[in-house]
Amino acid sequence: MALIRDSSNIKAGDGTVTINGWVQDVRNLGGISFITLRDRYGTVQITMPKKKIEPELFELLTGLSRESAVSVTGEVKESNQTALGVELIPLSAKIHGEAASPLPLGVVDKVNAEMDTRLNNRFMDLRKPEIRAVFELRSMAVDLIFEAAAENGFVNVSTPKIVASGAEGGSTLFGVDYFGRQAYLAQSPQLYKQMLMSTGLDRIFEIGPAFRAEHSNTNRHVTEFISFDGEMAWIEKEEDVMEMIGRIIDRVLRGLAEKGAKQLEILGKSIKIPELPYPVLTYGECLKLVIDAGLPLKEGDDLGTEGEKIVGDAMSAKGFDLYFIAEYPEEAKPFYIMEKPGTPYSYSFDLDFKGQEISSGGQREHRYDELVGRMSKKGLNPDDFGFYLDAFKYGMPPHGGWGIGVDRLITKLLDLPNVREAILFPRDVSRLSP
Ligand code: ATP
Repeated sequence: MALIRDSSNIKAGDGTVTINGWVQDVRNLGGISFITLRDRYGTVQITMPKKKIEPELFELLTGLSRESAVSVTGEVKESNQTALGVELIPLSAKIHGEAASPLPLGVVDKVNAEMDTRLNNRFMDLRKPEIRAVFELRSMAVDLIFEAAAENGFVNVSTPKIVASGAEGGSTLFGVDYFGRQAYLAQSPQLYKQMLMSTGLDRIFEIGPAFRAEHSNTNRHVTEFISFDGEMAWIEKEEDVMEMIGRIIDRVLRGLAEKGAKQLEILGKSIKIPELPYPVLTYGECLKLVIDAGLPLKEGDDLGTEGEKIVGDAMSAKGFDLYFIAEYPEEAKPFYIMEKPGTPYSYSFDLDFKGQEISSGGQREHRYDELVGRMSKKGLNPDDFGFYLDAFKYGMPPHGGWGIGVDRLITKLLDLPNVREAILFPRDVSRLSP
């Protein structure tokens, strides 16, 4: 049987090998024909001198439509005409799946298709090496998160995604009919990861889906995203959480720069590794920057997309891509966040990457009475959260944590124009398929 080779390891002297791939291009020049066969790693040239190939095989191969899935077995020959330095002279071929024409989307065409067309035909879009490279890097980033979390003593957990109540109230919850009862898709693992802080599993993380019924149609919001959540107990202050996030992100960036060198090259990108610790601005400092830049915001307002961008530009000018914005007004933050005593602020922060939020986190309110007080203040009924509050009645240590949008992290890291570029099959207001 012929050796199985691909474009990454085929070499002169291999003898007879089989290559699996898609027909990227067929050029028939009369006396000789060429096929560019593309596999996961690159392309191999199939060279067919008409006189040296069985007529039936020649006809079969030259008649193939672009993007057909085939296996070609042949002799590897040295060649100074190809980038790999070799070409394959076919002896036999198996056609596994002939591609219909016209293609819904060109794989090598220079004309950039609309995003909708690309997403509607994602299977074809992903045949482009530069699109696949994003998902290979994403896979590495997730692997690195697992490694970094484990190294820092975090236990990997999975919390329910069908839940009875939301973490932050009802506005962005998707309802589910759960055998006649009202349930929801989890908008975050917040309540469960906090409950775990009272168990002895005092450093946990989860990488899982989060669902938000976001009606906004922006380039950074989708309705289903993957969140990397962490929670750690026995902290003294929110800075302990920031320090941990910095440590984990730094590990991911360094790992990607090293392991993802090939994919980064395909994308023409590089990973900049900022120094630790990442700088911390307060909400107040950011608000001043934004007001000075001319935005009509007042104390307590959300910085908003434009405000975040102004802060991002100011930080970029100083050479900082990643920075924390701390001490947000408590009013703008969910009930579980700890207030900063005697001030309208809270021990909560965002981590922004070049003017866009990629994570939020903070120190949580672990004191039962204060927590119930904050729930009532936010218009929530503590009775709806009984299962959660119970965990605070019997010895809850101080704790804090974060949620990082994996899709947003990849988008910003690779400087992609839209979060949908980092999601295989995105879900948004108008997209439910494929
Ligand atoms: P934003 O203000 O940008 O809408 P948020 O404050 O609602 O975000 P959090 O609830 O703090 O976000 O969620 C933590 C992280 O999860 C965010 O920093 C972001 O990376 C990610 N995230 C939140 N909502 C979405 C979404 N709709 N699509 C993609 N990622 C999201």
